[in-house]
Amino acid sequence: MAFPATRLRRLRRTETLRDLVRETRLTPESFVYPLFICPGTGIRKEVRSMPGVFNLSIDEAVKEVRDSRALGVLSIILFGLPEKKDEVATGAWAEDGIVQRAARAIKSEVRDVIVMGDVCLCEYMSHGHCGIVKASAPPATAEYEIVNDASLELLARTSVSLARAGVDVIAPSDMMDGRVGAIRSALDKSGFENTPILSYAAKFSSGFYGPFREAADSAPQFGDRRSYQMDPGNIREAMREIELDIEEGADMIMVKPAMPYLDVIAAARDRFDLPLAAYQVSGEYAMIEAAARNQWIDRERVMMESLFCIRRAGASMILTYYAKEAAKLLA
Ligand SMILES: [Zn+2]
Repeated sequence: MAFPATRLRRLRRTETLRDLVRETRLTPESFVYPLFICPGTGIRKEVRSMPGVFNLSIDEAVKEVRDSRALGVLSIILFGLPEKKDEVATGAWAEDGIVQRAARAIKSEVRDVIVMGDVCLCEYMSHGHCGIVKASAPPATAEYEIVNDASLELLARTSVSLARAGVDVIAPSDMMDGRVGAIRSALDKSGFENTPILSYAAKFSSGFYGPFREAADSAPQFGDRRSYQMDPGNIREAMREIELDIEEGADMIMVKPAMPYLDVIAAARDRFDLPLAAYQVSGEYAMIEAAARNQWIDRERVMMESLFCIRRAGASMILTYYAKEAAKLLA
């Protein structure tokens, strides 16, 4: 039936009608709140390129988790800024690593919170790459190589150590081939067969990560991450990455970044039945904040719209620096 019998504006007339027929809902429980944990006490240091986001010492992180939990945000994901870095990422898997200590503190002080642990090596390696680096010998064209298989052992060791510290969900973000399988088998061997894996399955090599590297002090000291993270032009390869991670035992999958990759989120939703997460990354956040500071956009409106659209594309969970603020607005 066409106009004039059909008038789509009938259901847009009032706020209550629009609320009634909205196809997409946002709830605080679907947000995952990223936190950057640093050494010390009483520290709350704002990240220059991410206003409103802080490096937090463990005591401050506990307060932050308590606050966000009270707003209905059930999940957090932890990133660590270690005291020192080396060539074997000791800080990532050490029993007393910064994230391990933070996880213990949070789990003992806040009830009913899901603590996710990002698993990667870049924040803990002196060179800032996500795997072990080896200088290549001629005739190789590259000067160095990020060694895949040897890195798996460190990632598996990190995962077990985080599970031991009480981390509820292991979230590998390194993009080495075979890491989900290696982590699954290491967890199982150590008695953590009930600890789920949220795999950063389709993680693109993206300029939108810029501010995060300042927040987590994880910029590579040389080269870039294009030999392990995905090329932004590839969606079919993203489906292969996700498929392989599922075969290796991923319980949940993620697409990262979110807003520039909504088509990847939608394709993944269509094709796979696992819970699907999307990461609204630092650059997405920084763009909204910067434009809002210049009064070029309405900050709250764009913040909520960006989250709605990521959800509409098919993400069931959203990792977002706006978790607390969006939860407040939804209350
Ligand atoms: Zn990394």
